[in-house]
Amino acid sequence: MQNSKTFGTCITCQRYTALTKHHLTPKKRHKKKTKKKIDNLDALIMVCRKCHDGIHDLYDERTLAEQFNTLEKIYADEALQKHFAWVGKCKK
Ligand SMILES: [Zn+2]
Ligand SMILES: [Zn+2]
Repeated sequence: MQNSKTFGTCITCQRYTALTKHHLTPKKRHKKKTKKKIDNLDALIMVCRKCHDGIHDLYDERTLAEQFNTLEKIYADEALQKHFAWVGKCKK
């Protein structure tokens, strides 16, 4: 297990803290064999632990993949907005 932390500004709560990777589109169901690595940077966002936990507490993996597969959709959700606003007020 790697414990190295990436620090930066959380994209959802704007705090400068340790970030985690959240995959907007977790697993593709395509059965195509592709040897080339697909670098879909849009499918990955960097969020802090608290925001990340909230995303997964509010919605399950399938809902996230189907309904929250872009950052715009995540921003547009009221429950998530409330969570991010709450996290933004936390000092740590
Ligand atoms: Zn955050
Ligand atoms: Zn995640």
